[in-house]
Amino acid sequence: MRPKSDVLVSEVGPRDGLQSVKSMMPLEAKKAWISAEAAAGVREIEVGSFVSKRLLPQLADTADLVSHARHIAGLTVAVLVPNLRGAQAAVAAGVHKITLPFSASDTHLARNVRRTPEQMFEEVRGIAQLMRETSCGQRPKLEGGISTAFGCSYEGPIPADKVLRLAEMLMEAGCDEVGLSDTTGYANPAQVKNLVQRVTNAIGKSAFSGLHMHNTRGLGLANVLAGLEIGVTTFDSSLGGLGGCPWAPGATGNVVTEDLVFMLEAMGISTGIDIKKLLEVRKILESAMPTEELFGFVAEVGLPLGFERNE
Ligand code: ZN
Repeated sequence: MRPKSDVLVSEVGPRDGLQSVKSMMPLEAKKAWISAEAAAGVREIEVGSFVSKRLLPQLADTADLVSHARHIAGLTVAVLVPNLRGAQAAVAAGVHKITLPFSASDTHLARNVRRTPEQMFEEVRGIAQLMRETSCGQRPKLEGGISTAFGCSYEGPIPADKVLRLAEMLMEAGCDEVGLSDTTGYANPAQVKNLVQRVTNAIGKSAFSGLHMHNTRGLGLANVLAGLEIGVTTFDSSLGGLGGCPWAPGATGNVVTEDLVFMLEAMGISTGIDIKKLLEVRKILESAMPTEELFGFVAEVGLPLGFERNE
């Protein structure tokens, strides 16, 4: 008997997608989006970010979204936080998972969260302390998300040793798990295999939380496949490929959730997601943000004739 799903597809559109677009998506539309994706079978959604409302007004309603999403049975409610203050707000809102982005590139780190690596580690230790003080039932999982792990549009190549050291230091500082992000779309499949293998050897396979790949140069799904082949079971993606990174020039295009789910299901790898229902969710985005461009091959040309979800 196969487990219910082989791979966890983690939707990041309501955070990663919306922070990069100009449109302000109304709260009710965001709620409808999250509910519809959960109903399609998505089991983890990054619903927003506890950042300064001045910096990212698009995400100012994150606390409302957390309280909405928490009522959806079986859904892991994740948020991004850049600092201890954000983590405090996330714990107060009752999230299940916190991701702290920590760039492997010092320049990107400075632009993204305006901190030096030393200052950022202060935040990590502060958040880890907060986690220890939070009672068991309320304590979210803390993920260190290493951004620009595969290259940086300010600094160019990032040495693998630097990424490894950062992963180890994040675990030592109190993270429960560490994941790798290709913020800039620089990764290639050989690099993914090499770096993930080295990181999992260093911190242990169970502490590796997954991959966040971008499709900036068309290699998003190839990189996912490389990860799959070496045993990675969690991948981030964004509905309609919405998003990128506003502080990494040219880094548009998260992996498209619909295309990712199609690839996996077509390969016989179960995601627990009903792709037909998932494709329908795009309508919520299209009507709430008619000026934003959505991406995705499957949505454009449709499912192949006779394609059925693998049960
Ligand atoms: Zn992204």
